[in-house]
Amino acid sequence: MLDELVTVLSRCKRCVVLTGAGMSAESGVPTFRGDEGLWRKFRPEELANVDAFMANPELVWEWYNWRRQLMAEVEPNPGHFAITAMEKWFEHFTMITQNVDGLHRAAGTKSILELHGNIARNKCLDCNRPFEIEGEIDSGQIPACPKCGGKIRPDVVWFGEMLDPETIQSAFSEAERADVFFSIGTSAVVHPAASLPVTAKRQGAVLVEINPERTPLSELADFRFSACSGELLPSLMDALRETSGGGD
Ligand code: NAD
Ligand code: ZN
Repeated sequence: MLDELVTVLSRCKRCVVLTGAGMSAESGVPTFRGDEGLWRKFRPEELANVDAFMANPELVWEWYNWRRQLMAEVEPNPGHFAITAMEKWFEHFTMITQNVDGLHRAAGTKSILELHGNIARNKCLDCNRPFEIEGEIDSGQIPACPKCGGKIRPDVVWFGEMLDPETIQSAFSEAERADVFFSIGTSAVVHPAASLPVTAKRQGAVLVEINPERTPLSELADFRFSACSGELLPSLMDALRETSGGGD
């Protein structure tokens, strides 16, 4: 099946990749839906929302401090590096991620749309202004916004919140024009990100799914690899390089 995909890819100019938490699983970042996704028995949905923050900001910050520390210690895996190589291989390439861990950038990928923000950044709950601080946020003494006094929160998109309109707009316009669309390590249930592959397919893109488990997208995929992204993507890049006669 890999050979067949390589033949198809050699005719594709515009490639769009969507990644989810599974992409970073092999780096040691827990996904939300796996058992290891639980922290002190809370489900992420119970903590990653504005009501939880209003009710108990200390608890929510404790969780983010734990996740930040975890993410600061991990490294990109071979899948992240293979995506950086894909970016160089295709004439036009866009990476769309739901991950907040910054590992795609750490692996050297340039064209990245971060749909759900970045866990390393902070902003004001009330006026959205970015807030920079040395070291970690003290969950017992959450800083206030210097402009409006609002509580400082992580700069990520919580459940029930809108995505940045420009970012999601760019993501859809790239999906519409894609020749090939990869959905990698995402459960494909969190919208609007989950609509991106469907949109791409409807507009004629070849749809490729890489996920050890089936998702609502599996039925629709032209190529489905029940595999870990950290293993499959490097093999795919090797196969692509072979057919194009070596080089980088
Ligand atoms: P999810 O947790 O719902 O699903 C992860 C998917 O990855 C599952 O379908 C699973 O089968 C698959 N998977 C697991 N290991 C894999 C591997 N090695 N290779 C390929 N696929 C693998 O994650 P989601 O779809 O991204 O959506 C949940 C939300 O969680 C997102 O909004 C995201 O922002 C957030 N999140 C981000 C991170 C991160 O930044 N690393 C981590 C956890 C959650
Ligand atoms: Zn403010």
